[in-house]
Amino acid sequence: MSTDIRRGLPSASSAVRYALCPGSFLLEKRMPYDLPSEAAASGTRIHEAISGKVPIELDDNEREIYDRCVAQEVEVRRTAGFNAPDHTFREERMWMSDENGTPLWSGEPDALFITGTSGLVLDYKTGRGDVWEASVNLQLRALVVLAVENYSLTEITVAIIQPLAGKPTIARYTFSDLLAAVAEVSEDMARIKEPNQPRTPSEDACKYCRAKAICPEAQQAVAVIGSTKESAIIDPQELGRFLELARVALKVIEARKDQAKAFIEAGGIITGWVLKPGATVEKITKPEVVWERCERLGMTSEGFMSSVKITKGALKTAIGAVTMEKGKGLAATVDSILEGCTEETQNAPSLVKEDK
Ligand code: SF4
Repeated sequence: MSTDIRRGLPSASSAVRYALCPGSFLLEKRMPYDLPSEAAASGTRIHEAISGKVPIELDDNEREIYDRCVAQEVEVRRTAGFNAPDHTFREERMWMSDENGTPLWSGEPDALFITGTSGLVLDYKTGRGDVWEASVNLQLRALVVLAVENYSLTEITVAIIQPLAGKPTIARYTFSDLLAAVAEVSEDMARIKEPNQPRTPSEDACKYCRAKAICPEAQQAVAVIGSTKESAIIDPQELGRFLELARVALKVIEARKDQAKAFIEAGGIITGWVLKPGATVEKITKPEVVWERCERLGMTSEGFMSSVKITKGALKTAIGAVTMEKGKGLAATVDSILEGCTEETQNAPSLVKEDK
């Protein structure tokens, strides 16, 4: 069972969805909190490791992303002048309250650095997915407003650190930018609590919305997809709309499947459906023992190596443990070791939306 640290109030992390679908806040309140997916849980582990609040065991892939996040943070802090800030806050939730002290909404930056009346707000994204860059990122805009309210800052730099998508994106809010952001975000956060706000499905809006399984507008996307005429599939304009709705419909269908699984897990019966146990995966955990046994059979090291697959992340971790190098130094050593020993392949093209 999950506890709502947001106390049922709007949160900066959903600011993009509120902008795209203002009615989603009230509809989502009717749904319980989801259990985190494995991808989300992995992202949470990396975030917790960066925050340093609790010791976290990371797997090789997570360690690679963690290292790249930390390296990019160092670079952003150096560029923005926050190498030695007066205050550092990591994953500390901030609140906006009314004049009586009643909480209105909240947000939790991954990192907030303060020197004097200047601040730096960082947000880490550990996946590859599309994220609005810092200058137009509404989550960062809401966090900026909270930082102004809580710490009386007069200028704030914001950055998105998403190493799997490339370099960080950075933007700066001047004092007048901050005043404009405070007015806009406060108005937006108040409006979404009012009844009858429009609900407008789109992939970006619906992706993380808990209300997908009960939302009439999102269900309608499934209905439209199901009734699409053949002519609509060959008209490029209509095909674009079809693709957008198809992505919403897929999210709705996945939400329904998750609902059904949770229902059966809780002892419910859906006639004709059962939960099939997941596949069992066997993993070799002692390759050195396997090698010794193969050698006794007469296998050469070349023959054994032909059955071994090395991942770059695991190799980097192993090299780092030997050389004690980190960051760019470690990356350079790994590159020199791999030189001439790798090949690149390209996957088939995938259909994606053009950048926002
Ligand atoms: S499912 Fe989509 S359309 Fe429905 S409330 Fe959520 S974001 Fe809005």
